Amino acid sequence: MKLAKRMSRLNESLTIAISTRAKELKASGKDVLIFSAGEPDFDTPDVVKNAVITAMQKGCGKYTPVPGTKEVLEAICTKLKRDNNLSYTPAQVVTNVGAKQSIFNCLQALVDESDEVIIPAPYWVSYPEIVGYCGGKSVIINTDESTGFKMTAEQLKAAITPRTKVLMINTVGNPCGGIYLKAELEAIGKVLEGTEIIVLSDEIYEKLSYDTEPTACASVSEDMFKRTVTINGLSKCAAMPGWRFGYMASPISELNTAVKKLQSQSTANIASIVQAGAIPALLGQGDEYIAMMKKNFIERRDYAVNAINAIDGLSVLSPAGAFYLFINCKKVDSDSMRFCTRLLDEKLVACVPGVGFGMDGYFRFSFACDLESIKKGCERIAQFVKSYKKD
Ligand code: PMP
Ligand code: GLU
Repeated sequence: MKLAKRMSRLNESLTIAISTRAKELKASGKDVLIFSAGEPDFDTPDVVKNAVITAMQKGCGKYTPVPGTKEVLEAICTKLKRDNNLSYTPAQVVTNVGAKQSIFNCLQALVDESDEVIIPAPYWVSYPEIVGYCGGKSVIINTDESTGFKMTAEQLKAAITPRTKVLMINTVGNPCGGIYLKAELEAIGKVLEGTEIIVLSDEIYEKLSYDTEPTACASVSEDMFKRTVTINGLSKCAAMPGWRFGYMASPISELNTAVKKLQSQSTANIASIVQAGAIPALLGQGDEYIAMMKKNFIERRDYAVNAINAIDGLSVLSPAGAFYLFINCKKVDSDSMRFCTRLLDEKLVACVPGVGFGMDGYFRFSFACDLESIKKGCERIAQFVKSYKKD
């Protein structure tokens, strides 16, 4: 049996692989502390669950239109107008099986062999994997602490070539929690003027912002609106990761048509009951719940940032949003895979190596878990670093 060649260009998601291994170890009775998961520890709010129960009782088990029901598409338009001042029509919106599928669909529809996709690093693990699967080439822009791990307009300008097709922007970002300021997005927009580059703006952590209010990429100018696909979902901000609800909105009608066609031949519509459950969350009925999650995340972030920075050899910037610390471990070991493998084997602490996010010498620690576990985890990391020997 021979698999298709394109499969050789795809690796399993590192975040999922590590979290799966950690959960298996925990299920086997080991006292594993899991800081690798990219999901809120909070349960889905009742307002969502109740909407699903009502929808089921009313009988909503039929196929829906591929992009989603009229009601959910209108709710997304309402959300984008209310929160982001973006005016889309329901025909410009498609719901997908998580924002991961939104990104997958867009890249499948846009990227040809040898087209270039600009990705600022550190990036979410799946971006270059999907680009590679499409046959495209990822052009990585490296960032560091000096800009809060954000790409500058000058770096973008230098990376653009005649083959550049897409720019990936992730604000609020995973794994660093960086938030592009309006002026920074405006400067990026100016660089793109006159080009045909499409921006995929992944805003899935939008509502988990602590220090700065995020600006939607598409909102900074008319030109940016025309070239941007806004990608969002409810996995993080409505604590619905397993429900698989993501969406994309853009005024680029050829792209929207292509994505709908692609999806009509793959998943077709996303689960009808999930669409029904998403509506109250999109309409802001879960906002109090989000405020409660944020309050907890801020407390945990502040604790964890202080505890990690107190460890000799480690350092971390306080993230402006999301629920991850991206910790610099270069003074201990610049091989992040070795560092994280040993941390799990020796101290039963699961974190994700920075190499998976395109930046070795760092590791990602999720603080989307209870404060007690965070305290214990930071103690174990401190002991681990103190006695660390490279070989
Ligand atoms: N983008 C980023 C930056 C993420 O961290 C995630 C988390 N998996 C996604 C997109 C995809 O989210 P989902 O498919 O769960 O909606
Ligand atoms: N986005 C999450 C993470 O970064 C979930 C896992 C995944 O889909 O990769 O860990």
